[in-house]
Amino acid sequence: MITLTNEQKKFLEDFGITMERVINGDGLGKTDCIALMNDFDYEIAYGVSPCQKEGHTLRWKSWHCAQCNTGSRKFSERYTSYGYVYYAYSEKAQLTKVGFCTNMTERRKTLNTKKTGSFYDWVMPTALYCEENAGFIESLVHKELNLYRIIDTEYKDSDGQVSKELYKISPELAWKTILRIGKENGYEP
Ligand SMILES: [Zn+2]
Repeated sequence: MITLTNEQKKFLEDFGITMERVINGDGLGKTDCIALMNDFDYEIAYGVSPCQKEGHTLRWKSWHCAQCNTGSRKFSERYTSYGYVYYAYSEKAQLTKVGFCTNMTERRKTLNTKKTGSFYDWVMPTALYCEENAGFIESLVHKELNLYRIIDTEYKDSDGQVSKELYKISPELAWKTILRIGKENGYEP
């Protein structure tokens, strides 16, 4: 069985990518692997065909070598930058989304214009502002709520991507969890 080298583990750590976002691509073809990554919210595949330049075996969803193309470093910036950890609720879906954004007004709009999960009655009442590490706080909240996470190909956005970050919980529980984890990390509304 293919496992991650220490160098690869370090790389993932630097990018704040947790193992639940990493897929073992060994034995999967490129097409199947990318399809799984899209459908189930994986950031990186390992054990895949080595890159031509350096022989690295970590790839982004774009199939670019992760280690040669850290231009996708957006992810880690997102992780450490300021932002809002928000929750939004769709009455029709009976689902709550927990996410991160840097502009609440904009996100309120795009939740519905993008038809998140195929729904467009999202209401986003409030959010927790974090001066830094907002993406990190978001990831802690996601981890906490992981049991209630819904990943279903039935719930697609208008761009055809399977909706991530959807939870079968009440909006109240989402907000309570955001507040508690925020507080543990020094952020209060
Ligand atoms: Zn490479």
